[in-house]
Amino acid sequence: MQQFQQYIGGMFSDGSAQFESQDPATGKPWALMPEAREGDVNAAVDAAQTAFYSPEWAGMTPSQRGKLLHRLADLIADNAETLAALETRDTGKIIRETSAQVAYVAEYYRYYAGLADKIEGAHLPIDKPDMEVWLRREPVGVVAAVVPWNSQLFLSAVKIGPALAAGCTVVLKASEDGPAPMLEFARIFDQAGFPAGVLNVITGFGPKCGAVLTSHPKIDHVAFTGGPDTARHIVRNSAENLASTSLELGGKSPFIVFEDADIESAVNAQVSGIFAATGQSCVAGSRLVISNQIKDLFLKRLKEKAEAVVIGEPDDIATEVGPLCTTAQIQLAEALVSQSTQAGAKLITGGTALDRTGNFFPPTILDCSNAPETPCLTQEAFGPVLSVVGFDTEAEALQIANDTAFGLASGVFTKDLTRAHRMIRGIRAGIVWVNTYRAVSPMAPFGGHGLSGHGREGGIQAALDYTKVKAVWLRTSDEPIPDPFVMR
Ligand code: NAD
Repeated sequence: MQQFQQYIGGMFSDGSAQFESQDPATGKPWALMPEAREGDVNAAVDAAQTAFYSPEWAGMTPSQRGKLLHRLADLIADNAETLAALETRDTGKIIRETSAQVAYVAEYYRYYAGLADKIEGAHLPIDKPDMEVWLRREPVGVVAAVVPWNSQLFLSAVKIGPALAAGCTVVLKASEDGPAPMLEFARIFDQAGFPAGVLNVITGFGPKCGAVLTSHPKIDHVAFTGGPDTARHIVRNSAENLASTSLELGGKSPFIVFEDADIESAVNAQVSGIFAATGQSCVAGSRLVISNQIKDLFLKRLKEKAEAVVIGEPDDIATEVGPLCTTAQIQLAEALVSQSTQAGAKLITGGTALDRTGNFFPPTILDCSNAPETPCLTQEAFGPVLSVVGFDTEAEALQIANDTAFGLASGVFTKDLTRAHRMIRGIRAGIVWVNTYRAVSPMAPFGGHGLSGHGREGGIQAALDYTKVKAVWLRTSDEPIPDPFVMR
């Protein structure tokens, strides 16, 4: 079995323990992973804190940090094939997606490389004639980054990129499900020339590793991506160290199609919105909110496309839907489908795990128009399960779209410009895509509110979020300080 190592203080080592990683396409173990426990977590945080205050890192100019990030981006591009193949092997994400995504991950590092020397402070027009006051933007400190299995290289880039650009150091905890791409990423990072301890990569389980890391007294900020239940643990953990947090959580994002939409385009976007990444996407457009005027026609086209999807081995370039990462994901999808059909939802296609080796679950569509209380409309399946609700009026479409505790993404398909603007204003979500879906860029902020979390990743603000402001007061008068008992 292939064996991977953790990366602490610039050194590779086996963890305190090891665990087997399963290949989602075969359900069989294929690699041994290092399991970080308390001692490893402490070592990683110590290494990150030592690096944070070291002259090699703290004394480096922002432009030099940018150059290192550019070098890292080049190395990622050079090693994209290996990284993509490992992510496919360990998580089941299809090779078509991992190849394209890893190439784009390099662009995220380039974007933050360019931002490193543009994080500016400010000068204040202070109301005292003998004072100069300015603001320095300083790195927030040691960052704990915790990511889930899906798109780990991408989800860690939007944390590591801005954090290092700002001058922080990082301990990244890869998911215990499919950590191989992150442990290989550590090998590539090691070649970029950063001082030891600037990035540390470990993996392990929630209570023994993630909880120790996120409650650690030397952690200043926790950047988390995962589910809302785990996020509640993270917030409780941060009661120990009072670290700031950013939380990128799940969604139940509405995909709204009006009767005047370009049907073919909307069908294709919906297929990508819910079946890409086998539905394991936080921005999955998992609630189709569709005009009753075109509902039958749209569902007919969607069913045809869903049933024509090529399901297969994740490393086959022809495959469009691969296995789910874990068997628990299959159980969740099956449970949601059966609860929903019992509540009156109509199963249009799919619904049960495929009778073949591996964690395969087919594209599934449920018409929930007659079952408004069904869990499939409120809970995230994190699998290829689409719930459908019809509407008659624009007001009804907006009400259904906003009837969720999440608030991450949304899509609106219409050719009516003024209606599009009304929907953009009315939808409560961090992202609105109009006549498109699932587009991302390093330049655009990404994140939500409500049960989808808080904070934004991507864009300039994300780099500023890894800084804290220091106010500096400098007295310009040579006169002695007058009355010491009067505050000036
Ligand atoms: P999860 O919440 O179970 O796990 C995420 C990470 O948290 C893992 O590394 C896990 O080991 C760690 N963890 C678990 N318990 C912990 C604890 N007590 N303390 C600290 N860390 C702990 O998530 P998952 O099931 O692996 O991933 C799926 C979820 O992630 C979905 O809800 C999905 O929507 C969400 N997600 C969100 C985004 C986004 O950007 N908004 C992106 C991708 C995935």
